Amino acid sequence: MADPKGFLTHDRELPQRRPVDVRIRDWKEVYEDFPAPKLTKQAARCMDCGIPFCHNGCPLGNLIPEWNDLVYRHDWQEAIERLHATNNFPEFTGRLCPAPCEAACVLGINADPVAIKRVEVEIIDRAFSEGWVTPVVPAKKTGKRVAVVGSGPAGLAAAQQLTRAGHDVVVFERADAIGGLLRYGIPEFKMEKRHIDRRLEQMRAEGTEFRTSVNVGADITAEQLREQFDAVILSGGATQWRDLPVAGRSLRGVYQAMEYLPPANKDFENSPINARGKHVVVIGGGDTGADCIGTAIRQGAASVTQLEIMPQPPASRPGAQPWPTFPTLFKMESAHEELADGEGDRVYAVSTTEFVDDGTGQVRALRLVQVEGPQSGFKPIPGTEREIPADLVTLSMGFVGPEKGALLEGLGVEYDARGNVARDKTYMTNVDGVFVAGDMGRGQSLIVWAIAEGRAAASGVDRFLTGETALPYPILPTARPLV
Ligand SMILES: Cc1cc2nc3c(=O)[nH]c(=O)nc-3n(C[C@H](O)[C@H](O)[C@H](O)COP(=O)(O)OP(=O)(O)OC[C@H]3O[C@@H](n4cnc5c(N)ncnc54)[C@H](O)[C@@H]3O)c2cc1C
Ligand code: SF4
Repeated sequence: MADPKGFLTHDRELPQRRPVDVRIRDWKEVYEDFPAPKLTKQAARCMDCGIPFCHNGCPLGNLIPEWNDLVYRHDWQEAIERLHATNNFPEFTGRLCPAPCEAACVLGINADPVAIKRVEVEIIDRAFSEGWVTPVVPAKKTGKRVAVVGSGPAGLAAAQQLTRAGHDVVVFERADAIGGLLRYGIPEFKMEKRHIDRRLEQMRAEGTEFRTSVNVGADITAEQLREQFDAVILSGGATQWRDLPVAGRSLRGVYQAMEYLPPANKDFENSPINARGKHVVVIGGGDTGADCIGTAIRQGAASVTQLEIMPQPPASRPGAQPWPTFPTLFKMESAHEELADGEGDRVYAVSTTEFVDDGTGQVRALRLVQVEGPQSGFKPIPGTEREIPADLVTLSMGFVGPEKGALLEGLGVEYDARGNVARDKTYMTNVDGVFVAGDMGRGQSLIVWAIAEGRAAASGVDRFLTGETALPYPILPTARPLV
């Protein structure tokens, strides 16, 4: 244990976000730098518990107390060794993970938890800037060929593990750039794309091959894929979005979040779907909704309102969600701070009943009604109907599973009861040699789970190809967050 009194002498501290009126004028990440002496104090708060619940909270099993101790002792190089031992991409999780590890931190029982995620990102950022992140080239090649379909965090983690195990790995991506939702879903102000590019450089140097603008199932058939590769990993995500089939849904100006965010991520200033001067309504109170808010504000929206059907969650842990579960709490993301009226622009317990036409086929307003809680099936409360202005609406209501198109049909994979691609303990589908990892098998989830699945599926593939494996297997496909 680094500092036996650290948790008594230092309070939890995080870097400041840049002032709202400054940061909404650019697309850069919102956080200021965090000086090393401050970070050392945060690492010193770790109690090095006998049973580190944070290990269990993190799906990757990150060795959190170990690297907290190493940071406290200024041994940053060893810290990145320990961090990379369990996590291929700490620069992604350190910026984007909701940190279930912190919800499980023992200190969190009666004080603020250790700032684990911040320590994580500072370790990897320093490692990159010191030049310690170098290609890990395999000592021996196996001659086996693996196709990875989809280049999100699951596909990338699997590809890196398998390339390092000596296999020839090709990652196929139908978009024009690698990264999955990291690239075209998550906006620059949450994670600048240069972090993806920097990691891809390492992966290319290790020998992973990337082919973009290839829609597998159409540009290359499932049959051709099977012929050309010894094993396949499906990591195409859960891209089938949930819709809102109410009156006026087909009006111009009503988009899915994943129709709105990708073009904005490609061209920040001149996206074809632009919020400039418009009244924007974001339907859905989650992270995707927050990403739409921050994007619309940077594009110069006249107003932004976020609607959520659920009641407002509590600010602190309710009795029904005790430590170490991952509670549903009221969050003030950076994008929420940027709303003109602060939290007043976040409207809870409402349901959209209609999109209103301006007479030309373009949406001009949204009609909504206040609803009772989920126990009543969100029963509308009579007399609460009202209209709010809406020139641009984004639907951010989650995803229902993978697209069941030519690729999955061509391969003949089976689905589980939720409509995700079914797999066994080794992440293999019902089709011999075809594996599945990430949101495509788990359903809509998080980056940390996708990386963990990619790592675990890689170990299944390695064993399938060679009869044995030394690759780690962090989670079972059936593992779920502690809620
Ligand atoms: C807007 C948004 C914001 C989010 N923010 C966060 C966050 O802050 N933190 C967090 O932890 N999680 C976040 N998530 C969830 C997280 O991004 C996902 O859980 C994660 O990216 C899933 O990884 P994946 O590798 O399984 O799939 P994805 O990242 O979805 O990648 C799948 C890739 O496969 C490609 N593909 C699909 N089919 C084919 C095909 N036939 N041929 C070739 N390529 C194909 C797709 O184009 C895509 O690029 C967010 C999700 C969204 C939508
Ligand atoms: S990956 Fe997420 S859960 Fe794991 S240590 Fe990092 S922030 Fe915590």
